[in-house]
Amino acid sequence: MARSNRPKGRKQQPDDDGDLSHLLDGWRRSEVRRDGLWHVQPIPAVQSSKTYLCPGCRLDIAPGIAHMVAWRGDGVLGDAADLSNRRHWHTHCWRIK
Ligand SMILES: [Zn+2]
Repeated sequence: MARSNRPKGRKQQPDDDGDLSHLLDGWRRSEVRRDGLWHVQPIPAVQSSKTYLCPGCRLDIAPGIAHMVAWRGDGVLGDAADLSNRRHWHTHCWRIK
């Protein structure tokens, strides 16, 4: 089984992190579902480097597949706990959830 290869030799760009977090903040959106409020963030294919198990269809989300990550927005344990319990979904599985 191959271990995940993290890209090495990334160019050092001083304002990279700032730009990225700003971008991620912009991408995140909230959705009200039958079971409550969720925060949803699309993961583009280039940023998907691991295999995740989709809770919708219980199948793998292969690396390199654009998908969604979702976490509760109304949990009683707070944002950090909800964020650590985030789940990765196939885009279409999230839509039909
Ligand atoms: Zn799925």
